[in-house]
Amino acid sequence: MKVPPGVSPGDFADAIKQFEEAVGEEWVFTSGEDVDLYRDAYSPFWHEEEDSVPSAAVAPEGVEQVQKVVRIANTYKIPLWTISTGRNLAYGGSAPRLSGSVVLDLKRMNRILEVNDKNHYALVEPGVSYFDLYRYIQDNKLKVWIDPPDPGWGSPVGNSLERGGGRTPMRDHFAAECGMEVVLANGEIVRTGMGALPGSKTWQQYKYGFGPYIDGMFSQSNFGVVTKMGLWLMPEPEAYRDGTVMVQKHDDLVPFVEILSYLMNSEIVRGTMLLESPLLNYRASQGGGVLDTPGGPSIAEMERLGQEKNLPYWSVELHFWGPAKVIDAQWEYTQQKFSAIPGAAFKDGRSYRFPLELKETEDAPRVALGIPNLSVFALIAGAQGHMDFSPIIPMTGEAVFEVLKVFGEAYAELGVAPRNQFFALPWSFFPRSFVLLFGFPIEHDVEKNRKSREIFKRLVQVSAEHGWGEYRTHIAYMDTVSDVYSYNNHALRRFHETVKDAVDPNGILSPGKSGIWPKRMREARMKTGKAGRS
Ligand code: ADP
Repeated sequence: MKVPPGVSPGDFADAIKQFEEAVGEEWVFTSGEDVDLYRDAYSPFWHEEEDSVPSAAVAPEGVEQVQKVVRIANTYKIPLWTISTGRNLAYGGSAPRLSGSVVLDLKRMNRILEVNDKNHYALVEPGVSYFDLYRYIQDNKLKVWIDPPDPGWGSPVGNSLERGGGRTPMRDHFAAECGMEVVLANGEIVRTGMGALPGSKTWQQYKYGFGPYIDGMFSQSNFGVVTKMGLWLMPEPEAYRDGTVMVQKHDDLVPFVEILSYLMNSEIVRGTMLLESPLLNYRASQGGGVLDTPGGPSIAEMERLGQEKNLPYWSVELHFWGPAKVIDAQWEYTQQKFSAIPGAAFKDGRSYRFPLELKETEDAPRVALGIPNLSVFALIAGAQGHMDFSPIIPMTGEAVFEVLKVFGEAYAELGVAPRNQFFALPWSFFPRSFVLLFGFPIEHDVEKNRKSREIFKRLVQVSAEHGWGEYRTHIAYMDTVSDVYSYNNHALRRFHETVKDAVDPNGILSPGKSGIWPKRMREARMKTGKAGRS
C-alpha cells in the first residue's frame, strides 16, 4: 500500500483503522484496484512516475464523520484531498495535487436538503450531482432550472467551488453560490453568510451576513471542506429563443464585440455565447487553423475567400430566456443595435415554450435549457483525454485580434499544428470578460505528453506576458499558474499562505491546491529545489 509522504507505515495503518471506525470499514478504500479509480483518467503524466496516485480514499456519510476524519488526519499529519463527485476532468479528475494524499470522497453526502421555487434556490450536499438535482426538480414538478456545465455529471458544489461555467443566465457558478457549511481543518463547523445566525430564515437568500464575506476563500482553495452549499436557481422561464448575428469583414469585430458587451452588460443578452468565425472555421477545415499563424493568408485574401464562399467573417448565436413578449423585443432590439455595422445579417433560430417535453433525438441546445447531458464527450472522441488551457481575456475585438496573433506565433514557434485545439475563439462563461478554451489532447504516450506539458507551460508564460491569466487549471500546472500571479512579489500567494498556516497548521487539507502549500511542505520544497514551484 502506498503511504502519504512524511507518514510512517505504522502511523498510516493506525490512521486507516481509525478512519474505518469513523466511517465504516467498507467506506475506506486501500486496495490498488479501488484507489486506481481516483487517478486522473486524463493525466498528462500517464505511465510516468509523477502521475498522481492517492494512497487511500475515505467516504464519510455525514458532517460528523467529516469532522472525525479531519481530526484523525490532524493527529497523523495525513494530507487529505477533498472531492465532491470527482468529475473534474481536464483539470485533474479526482486525483490529488500531492501524490499519496488520501482522497476525502464526499459522494455519499448526497442529500438535496431543500429546493425552493418561490425564491428560487437550493441547499445541497457535495455528493448531489447535476443529474440528481435535475431529476428531483422534474419529479417534484418544481418551477426552477439548474445550470449544468458541459458535461453535466459533476456536482453543483464541486463545480461552483472550481468557479465553473454553464450556459444559462446563471452561468457563473460561483456567483450563484449563497451560503455554505464548512468543516475547518480542526474539525470545527462554520456556516457562512446568514448561516452564522442560529435559526436564520435567509441563509440562501442573502449572501453576505455580517462582517467580512469569506465564501470566496473556500473556492479553488484548501482552507476547508464544504459540506453544504446554497445555490441560486433560475425561475423556469416562459420561453426560449435564439438567433444568429453575422458580420462580413475582419475589422467589423471591433464594433461587433463592443455592441455585444453593451447588450450583455445591460442584461438584454444573457447567458453564454461563443464567438465564431464561419470563415476561419472553413480555413481550419481545409487544414489551416483558426489562429493567425505567420505566413498565413492576408486579411484581404481571407475577405475575398469569404465573399467567394459566402461566409461571414464573424458570427455569434445569442440566447434569450423569459416571457415570449420580452425575448421577442430583446431579439428585435439586438438586431437593431447590430444593424449599425454595414452588412450585418441575422438569422432566427430555435424557439421553445416551457414546460417542454423533448424527444431524445431532438437537436436542442440542452445545456442552455438547463438539461444536464454528456454529449460534449462526442467532441473529443478519438483522443484519450484532454487538458484545458483557459486564460481570461478582455471582451474586446482588439483583444481577440491580439490573441489570434500571439497564440498563432506561439504555436508556430513551438511547432504545434494549427489545428491542435478544440476552440480558439472566446466564450462568455463569465460576465464582463471572455475566456479562451484550448483543449490539448492527452495520449498514452510519454514523449507526446512531455511535449504537451512543455507547450502548456510556455502558453501560460506567453499569456502572462500579455496580461492574460488562467481562470482555473489542471493539478499539474497549479504551481505554474500561481507563479504568474506574482504582483508585488507574490503578495497574494503570501497572503494565501498566511491564511493557510493559520487555519490549517498541520497542512492536512489539499496541500498544493492552487499553488498553496502548507508551511512544512513549503520548507521541504525549498530544500528539494521545487520551491520555484513549476
Ligand atoms: P465535481 O463534483 O463537479 O466533479 P470535483 O469533486 O471533481 O467536482 O471537485 C473539483 C475540485 O473542487 C476538487 O479537486 C477540489 O479541489 C474542490 N472541491 C470539490 N469539492 C469540495 C468540497 N466539498 N470542499 C472543498 N473543496 C472541494
